Amino acid sequence: MNTDVVVIGGGAVGLCTALMAARQNLRVVLVEAHEPKAWQKEQPDLRVVALALDNQAMLETLGVWQKLKVMHVRAYSAMQVFDEIEPAPLCFQAADSGRDYLGHIIENTALTEVLWQAVVAEKNITLHCPDKLEALQSGPDFVHVVLRSGTEIQARLAIGADGAASKVRELLAIETDLHDYGQKGIVAFVETERFHANTAWQRFLSTGPLAFLPFSDTVCSIVWSLPNTQADTLLAQTPEAFCQALDSAFAGTLGKTSLISERAAFPLKRQLASRMRQGRVLLLGDAAHSVHPLAGQGVNLGLRDVRALQKAFEKALVTGGDPIGMRQLDVWARQCYSDNAMAALVFENINRVFSNDSMALGLMRGRLLGLANRISPLKAQMIRLATGL
Ligand SMILES: Cc1cc2nc3c(=O)[nH]c(=O)nc-3n(C[C@H](O)[C@H](O)[C@H](O)COP(=O)(O)OP(=O)(O)OC[C@H]3O[C@@H](n4cnc5c(N)ncnc54)[C@H](O)[C@@H]3O)c2cc1C
Repeated sequence: MNTDVVVIGGGAVGLCTALMAARQNLRVVLVEAHEPKAWQKEQPDLRVVALALDNQAMLETLGVWQKLKVMHVRAYSAMQVFDEIEPAPLCFQAADSGRDYLGHIIENTALTEVLWQAVVAEKNITLHCPDKLEALQSGPDFVHVVLRSGTEIQARLAIGADGAASKVRELLAIETDLHDYGQKGIVAFVETERFHANTAWQRFLSTGPLAFLPFSDTVCSIVWSLPNTQADTLLAQTPEAFCQALDSAFAGTLGKTSLISERAAFPLKRQLASRMRQGRVLLLGDAAHSVHPLAGQGVNLGLRDVRALQKAFEKALVTGGDPIGMRQLDVWARQCYSDNAMAALVFENINRVFSNDSMALGLMRGRLLGLANRISPLKAQMIRLATGL
């Protein structure tokens, strides 16, 4: 089978890439190992995304945001960052930058479901699911892909969006810089005694950051990063004991909490591929970069790779060039690589400074929070980082 683009992996990033490329009139083949888990209103997905405004705009142009909006999305209009030592929080209000909100909390299954439906309905996309990548060879003009089913595909461009354990990356022998934080992120839904005020809260503790994200009027999604042994102990505790520890870690900011879902945990790693392009193959999303979940930026970074690729395609088409030309793909890869490496570094250093019980760092972060709160241009820059605008 011949095509313009073959996308391996149909998570949020791969689905979005396939849709974006198809809308540029490219013929696309999408290979995905499993159909996405269905979104269930009564049993929300523990994995949530704080979708930034720039990525919302891309989903709007692809026509999927309109469908997502009527499922379950919760706008947040403020962010509050505080820590164990500095009581005065760093506050961002959407109104400070003339907006109604800073982003939306959405479930990963809701996002993949609307993208999947759009992909299935798209005439320029041929779907191979369930199927898996088995072999891949990148030549000067084409990439040759073999699937587990025996199907062979010849494409002018291959995209690896197959997650942190990427087979595409492995087959190309692209090395990664891997750092295991020795931590887990516990995720769950809790009911809070006090209203969350449509605010995304982040408290830095010496053990790691704890986030409360508004989900419905009375419910927050929590992401609590902790050293492995402490996380395992908390996961084994009764819901009551877990919530007692949670209330203490969050300094009772939203009153008493009660657990209303299962708890899940995922290992925290920073993994950066040494490059995002090799010949006619690109790596996008977690296949290229996994970061600390501290700022809820995992999916956002991946969607920004897609948006940058969309711009590269469009630029080539406007000038009458080939959207899959090597020159602009090289520019795309270098730009995205440096943006992602910078983001990973920033998240890691924030985590290092704020999740540390050294006295000197404790004093420094108190000053940093106070300073950032008072200096308007610095605050405006931080809002731009959070919203992507
Ligand atoms: C519990 C949890 C909570 C998280 N919370 C947050 C959060 O709050 N905010 C945030 O931004 N990020 C969060 N993340 C991270 C975020 O989910 C990832 O950054 C994001 O899912 C990456 O998307 P992706 O499409 O690149 O990869 P994935 O979502 O991993 O998708 C990869 C896809 O490729 C498919 N695949 C793999 N191998 C093959 C193959 N050989 N052939 C065909 N298909 C293949 C898989 O089936 C999968 O569908 C969380 C992650 C977890 C696990």
